Amino acid sequence: MSNKSIEKTKESIFLSSPHMSDEGYEREFVKEAFDTNWITPLGKNVDEFENELAAKVGSKAAAALTSGTAAIHLALKAAGVSEGDIVFCSTLTFSATANPIIYQNAKPVFIDSDYKTWNMCPVALEEAFNKYPEVKAVIVVHLYGLSADMDRIVELCKKHNVVLIEDAAESLGTYYKGQHTGTFGDYGIFSFNGNKIITTSGGGMLVSNNEERIAKVRFWATQSRDQARHYQHSELGFNYRMSNIVAGIGRGQLKVLDQRVQKKKYIYEFYRRELAGLEGVEFMPNNDWDDPNYWLSSITLNGNVRPIDIMEALEDENIESRPIWKPMHMQPFFEKYDFVGTDVSEMLFESGVCLPSDTKMTDEDLERVVDNIKKLW
Ligand SMILES: *Cc1c(COP(=O)(O)O)cnc(C)c1O
Repeated sequence: MSNKSIEKTKESIFLSSPHMSDEGYEREFVKEAFDTNWITPLGKNVDEFENELAAKVGSKAAAALTSGTAAIHLALKAAGVSEGDIVFCSTLTFSATANPIIYQNAKPVFIDSDYKTWNMCPVALEEAFNKYPEVKAVIVVHLYGLSADMDRIVELCKKHNVVLIEDAAESLGTYYKGQHTGTFGDYGIFSFNGNKIITTSGGGMLVSNNEERIAKVRFWATQSRDQARHYQHSELGFNYRMSNIVAGIGRGQLKVLDQRVQKKKYIYEFYRRELAGLEGVEFMPNNDWDDPNYWLSSITLNGNVRPIDIMEALEDENIESRPIWKPMHMQPFFEKYDFVGTDVSEMLFESGVCLPSDTKMTDEDLERVVDNIKKLW
């Protein structure tokens, strides 16, 4: 057998793939939607998924939407962000955090990371407030399920009387000082895309303690249809409402969220035990205040072995891994916008790698990953 055909027989290990409950909760809720013919963008699953998620994270209200991106878009709209407004945004993130700022014809200003959290640096944020006192909103990201430094970020936003939106797409199940991420600011968003800690195949949620604003978000998300017998519209509308089928999957997944967090933590601890001693390896931050969901176990490399060496070695074994997000201020599309900070996010991008963190991995799978990494030392 040639090398190539041997490789083909190696079982894939994924970064983070959908993991439905063993109990089949998701099927039950979806079946109910079928049985009652609620194959619609409204219904019991949508209402209950909103209630259950709001209760889980400790927020007064939630709106179920088609994606996390749609949730950020309507959070910005609810915050009153419009043409020409400035919005501060974590630079080290997925582009979905920043794109909705452009949908609203507003202007992002990207804020650097802090080594202590990998997330928005409060010092850079303060500098940005001094430079742009007219700023309208701040979007802070909780990357890879690690909390940002919320005490300081909330304090700065309060001091400057600016709306705070938390992109908690990657941090469902993460607590900062015992409070769930996504509930510190005026608005929080979650994503249920295929690779997130729980998934509905695609979907998102906007949470807030402002019930009136959440009602308005639901209105915008259903084409801004006014109360009238005929089709009457006094505002711009969007088709952003979550389907009752998708919400059924979400309700089932929410039941196993705690189990998923436990397994992610197990994976992280396994890697820490096995890899932390290797020359040049540093693990993602581990702050006292933080109770992370460990969505993706990530490391930085500052010795002879580079991220590309690990990614290539794992790829040869059918094992998925990937670099840390490339900062937004380094992206061709966004580089014309201002950036406040130094080189922290850039250094994290250049030295970082996300290890496979799939909750379906067995101990043998984890050993396979670890063995292939250790070989490089
Ligand atoms: C996944 C993700 C989003 C977008 O969520 P979608 O549901 O895919 O639209 C936004 N921000 C971050 C940080 C994400 O990881």
